[in-house]
Amino acid sequence: MSSSLAIGVDLGATKIASALVTRDGKVLTSRQCETRVDQGPAAVFDRIAAEANALRATTPPPHEKILGVGIGSPGIIDSARGIVQGAVNLQWKNVPLADEVASRLHDLPVVVENDANVNAVGEGYFGSAVGSRDYILLTVGSGLGSGIVAGGKLITGAHSFTDLGHYSLDPDHGLMCRCGHRGCAETVCSGPGLVNAARDILAQKSLRSVLSDTPDLASAQILQAARAQDSVACAAISRLAKWLGHIAAAAAAVIDPDVIVIGGGLGVAIVDLIQDDMSREFLRRVPRCFVPPTIRPATLPSPAMGAATIVWSRGVHTHALQTT
Ligand SMILES: [Zn+2]
Repeated sequence: MSSSLAIGVDLGATKIASALVTRDGKVLTSRQCETRVDQGPAAVFDRIAAEANALRATTPPPHEKILGVGIGSPGIIDSARGIVQGAVNLQWKNVPLADEVASRLHDLPVVVENDANVNAVGEGYFGSAVGSRDYILLTVGSGLGSGIVAGGKLITGAHSFTDLGHYSLDPDHGLMCRCGHRGCAETVCSGPGLVNAARDILAQKSLRSVLSDTPDLASAQILQAARAQDSVACAAISRLAKWLGHIAAAAAAVIDPDVIVIGGGLGVAIVDLIQDDMSREFLRRVPRCFVPPTIRPATLPSPAMGAATIVWSRGVHTHALQTT
């Protein structure tokens, strides 16, 4: 049984969260600092390396070994070469993140993967997808993220473009997406999408709702109203659930998952409210022989833990597969 350790780094637009994690999922130390994207990529590389070194300094005696650093980054990632091809919220294009951080850490290997993908791998190691070799993670928050594991391996595709969030559900009449396309799944399966749905229902129907009098409507208020059985809030959440069922079915038709994990701040908060509508829509769209997958909330304690798991998972991506 290996006692190898890994450092996980969750690189966000505002903060860098990191953790030193054992192979059985124990966080030994964790840290956090500001990203300060405004200071340029080199300063961010320095900060990631400094955080990793600070974690390395806490390593227990020689029998424990740190195998490497896994970084979860937003954007499109060329994981084979460790390059951030494009990350809008970091304002980065073709940044060689893995090499730059590795050069600051001397002998320590560094691997980089998209943040939703590291969370998907992490759910397979320590979260809601333990034991599954075929599962989908959908993270519902300010946007829609996705990570797909099939046959125990993370699916990244030929060009690292696997992304259900920007698969268009309605390229003709859908809402404009921040990516420039129309009707992307994240325009309806996200916090802003939920607010849009509530506004739309309020405008079209003469339903009585506490949301009619709510200025600056936000998803938290819609969730609160739905828990109080507000009809508009419930209808808005139901609409989101159906779209999620639709997008999950599109991926499921290819990989036949036994688990769908719903992550993201909003996603985890509404899992119990969306489960039924999502399942119904899912089953309307997949072949009749399908065994319905279990829908579960994400339970990985932190994105930094997910980032640590990609150090172990290069080539083989689930705990289930690694232990057989
Ligand atoms: Zn889009």
